[in-house]
Amino acid sequence: MEEKTLADLRREELTHAPKNGYDRLTPEDEAAMKAYCEAYKKFLDQGKTERECVSYAVALAEAKGFQKLERGMALQPGDKVYRINRGKSLMLAVIGQKPLSEGVHIGAAHIDAPRLDLKPNPLYEDCELAFLKTHYYGGIKKYQWVTIPLELHGVIALTDGRVIHVSVGNNEGDPLFTIDDLLPHLGAEQAKKPMGEAIPGESLNILVGSRPFKDDKGSERVKLAILDLLNQKYGIVEEDLISAELEAVPAFRASDVGFDRSLIGAYGHDDRVCSYACLAGLLELNGIPAKTAVCMLADKEEIGSEGVTGMRSAAFDTFMSDLCDTQQVPLKACYEKSFCLSSDVCAAYDPNFPEVYEKRNSALVNYGMGFCKYTGSRGKGGASDASAEVVAYVRKLMNDAGVIWQMAELGKVDAGGGGTVAAYMAERDIDTLDAGVAVLSMHSPFETVGKLDCYMTFKGMKAVYEAE
Ligand code: MN
Ligand code: MN
Repeated sequence: MEEKTLADLRREELTHAPKNGYDRLTPEDEAAMKAYCEAYKKFLDQGKTERECVSYAVALAEAKGFQKLERGMALQPGDKVYRINRGKSLMLAVIGQKPLSEGVHIGAAHIDAPRLDLKPNPLYEDCELAFLKTHYYGGIKKYQWVTIPLELHGVIALTDGRVIHVSVGNNEGDPLFTIDDLLPHLGAEQAKKPMGEAIPGESLNILVGSRPFKDDKGSERVKLAILDLLNQKYGIVEEDLISAELEAVPAFRASDVGFDRSLIGAYGHDDRVCSYACLAGLLELNGIPAKTAVCMLADKEEIGSEGVTGMRSAAFDTFMSDLCDTQQVPLKACYEKSFCLSSDVCAAYDPNFPEVYEKRNSALVNYGMGFCKYTGSRGKGGASDASAEVVAYVRKLMNDAGVIWQMAELGKVDAGGGGTVAAYMAERDIDTLDAGVAVLSMHSPFETVGKLDCYMTFKGMKAVYEAE
């Protein structure tokens, strides 16, 4: 073996030059990673909407002994509780050994994802084809959502209080839906338009049928036939669609990607990949944590965290103060000592589009959990810029726990930007740092992530929950 020169030694000692995660992965982690990613793919296939994610997460939690938090309940260290907020967001906690006056460790992520929501008056017929009008939810590139198979998921709330669950496309033998696009033969003018204008929002109409109602001489017979089918299947009439939340989502199963199966392609990695890490980290806790561990799965992040189920809702404070009341601790005293890892995806460096990334500060696939000191846009606008002390605390935590991690920004300065729920946690006087999995093709119908990064984010979340 060649002897190391002084320069070699000093280079090792002084420079920060992370290696690909696969060069650092232990055999134990590799085996755990495989099992973890199989469970994660199942979570994706079972949770195509925020409501479905909540139901599936609650089933997993109950199997691990979590029970519904009732106000006034006495809680002991080790107790596991959860609360559902209106079916669309979920909060879970494992009570720690230390009092809540010493703060809690929070993992926060969001379970909503970009999609096409049905409008309140969605169903219409044109030229003897039936369609559903949509209003897109979150930031999408509209051209990506045409000519792909779609499923329809959600609920229809009836005036008698019943709520009908709809899921079409996710089960074997189900029909699928789609949005049509212009054939290239007639698309010359369309092709000249800027990408953002080629598919207008009002043309994202979902094709749902073509067969007219039999023996009827009236108009709109295709629409009538669809209403008849919906009436037979769900017992609804057209007006019931007004009080519905139906979401069209890509009909793709989560699949391994690549000859080496090192990646996962799926709809909704943003931010179910971090949501699952936050949840699984809590469910897999070893023993009773030192501080109370809290997992927050929020809704509405993709449209600004507004609304009663978003991170800005007081529902989180109510949950936390109900926990604090069991120990007569003021909520503010708990918050000011708490720490939150706002776990949301970051943009993976894409060598096909190098112009928007700054290579030295981009998250790379397979380089582990990605931390972002700040997000935001145009001079950190809208960012929760974490303190140096907080970043140092997390560095130590991750290094001690053997987590493979990297530090990143979303893209080049002034190339764009984005936000997460971090700002709303920080607003509550909670020290917060952004962290998550690097994603290729973020917000597209089929996003891609590295398995190693998924697993390391789980490991990182667990380290936060288990910290002293
Ligand atoms: Mn996100
Ligand atoms: Mn997003």
